[in-house]
Amino acid sequence: MTNKELADLIFPDITKTVADYEALYPERDLSENAKVTRYAPSPTGFMHIGNFLAAIIDYVIAKNSGGVFFLRNEDTDQAREVEGAVEYIRHVLEHYKLNPDEYEYKDTLEQKGSYGPYIQSKRKEIYHAFIKHLIIEGKAYPCFMTQEEMDAAREAQTKDKRRIGIYGKYAKYRYISNEEAAERINNGEKYTIRLRSEGDFNRKFKFNDLANGEMEFPENDIDIPIMKSSNLLPTYHFAHLVDDHLMRTTHVVRGQEWMSSVPIHYELFKTFGFKMPKYVHIPLILKKDGDKVRKISKRLDPEARMTYYEEKGYPIYAVIEAIMTIANSNYEAWREGHPDADFTEFEFSPKKMSKSGALFDLDKLDNISKNYLSRLKAGEVFDLLDTYTKEYDKDFNEIINKYKEYTINVLNIEREQKKPRKDYASLSEIKNGIWYMYNELFTNVEYNFDTKFSNEDIKEILNTYFNDYYNESDDKDTWFNKMKEMAEKLGYCTNMKEYKENPDNYKGSIAEVSNVIRIAVTSKDQSPDLYEILKLLGKERVLNRIKNI
Ligand code: GLU
Repeated sequence: MTNKELADLIFPDITKTVADYEALYPERDLSENAKVTRYAPSPTGFMHIGNFLAAIIDYVIAKNSGGVFFLRNEDTDQAREVEGAVEYIRHVLEHYKLNPDEYEYKDTLEQKGSYGPYIQSKRKEIYHAFIKHLIIEGKAYPCFMTQEEMDAAREAQTKDKRRIGIYGKYAKYRYISNEEAAERINNGEKYTIRLRSEGDFNRKFKFNDLANGEMEFPENDIDIPIMKSSNLLPTYHFAHLVDDHLMRTTHVVRGQEWMSSVPIHYELFKTFGFKMPKYVHIPLILKKDGDKVRKISKRLDPEARMTYYEEKGYPIYAVIEAIMTIANSNYEAWREGHPDADFTEFEFSPKKMSKSGALFDLDKLDNISKNYLSRLKAGEVFDLLDTYTKEYDKDFNEIINKYKEYTINVLNIEREQKKPRKDYASLSEIKNGIWYMYNELFTNVEYNFDTKFSNEDIKEILNTYFNDYYNESDDKDTWFNKMKEMAEKLGYCTNMKEYKENPDNYKGSIAEVSNVIRIAVTSKDQSPDLYEILKLLGKERVLNRIKNI
């Protein structure tokens, strides 16, 4: 029985050849420097920050070079597929505006690009044509090993302190005749297809990873499975070969954990005589935990999941900046020189990735975000807050929209100045900073006046100020002069230096007087500029609050 006959028995309906597919998906017509990258998630869970790092790097490499960034759904492990995972991946890419040039969404039948299908489960025929080719060439074979046989091999290898895997004498079915294989298949025995490896573990080859530099690996000699028996879909390794070849990927950006599979991929590409893409194996994301540094973990760290950043309301700009900062060590310096440039103008350099792990720091993100939000116009912050609260705080959303102009003015306090306030790292923090500006929220408040003042002192300050001095149309200088005049009249010191030297000569300082007023109208002992707050609250609200106290 010939190999061809065996191949036809296994794949009777596959008539297209590797050459047919090569012709169907020709080299892309792009300029010489253009890079083709792909983000290739498995929809088996919710997006981890490490996946996002890969997606960003893919995106920036493609966009910076005028190339193509595409999305491929690696759904060959259907038992582990998580409902909603694909939708979430799409959502994240859209939210951060990392829109792929080519993609395909199963349920919506939306597709863009001529190198598809972009969903692996829809590419079965293509994989089978490639596998059939290998069987005809004698480079792949059906393997009938049962789970028990596999376990026995593993046990023997462990006992003999040998490498684990199906190679050499452990590759039992590598040597059976085509007749025997056909008979077993006809008898309905279960099988996988394995590569008939031609590698020699004692031989080494050189491999150049763009991030990690030149490395040496022993050749692969394991007859790895290339097709799973359960659903006849390819294993990751084989799908990587077929897809990244036919989709004409130039740069594979993927997690460090795939590094150890490089020998397999090297052999697969060599077997077909295809050019390997370039590889960028990206580091793990680390975080500080006390004085230790450890891998960021989906289980322990909420910030490991991309949902965290949206729930908190971090602006997309800040998240991308924070990730770019850990992606490339020279990004921050570049940003300083190009404050207004889009991040895709940055030329990503894989060599400048950390090899030992990328340290992600939430404080850094907060800083970036505070700076960013402080530089926006109040109206822009309002729009972000509007979008955010629509999703996460409907009640507050109603309030800010009911008083839209007022809210914009509130957000504008101490904004249009050389050094604007940096109160908020995320949109979820804004409510906590401005709720007291709305009567709807200013209910059941607690006032924590400084205990050194008696109720009488407080009453005296409030009554004097609001009966004799307060005028809502005063300008800032007048307002301030009046505060001083009143403080002096009531026995408070208006000169902080003098007060520090002789505190016992006074009831307190002017700062304390204004804090009494601040607490009375906001309930907080810290706030942005009191003059602005009084002005925005307006006479009616202010006097009502004083009356209530
Ligand atoms: N589906 C693989 C994963 O999610 C992709 C790895 C790759 O980018 O090649 O880990």
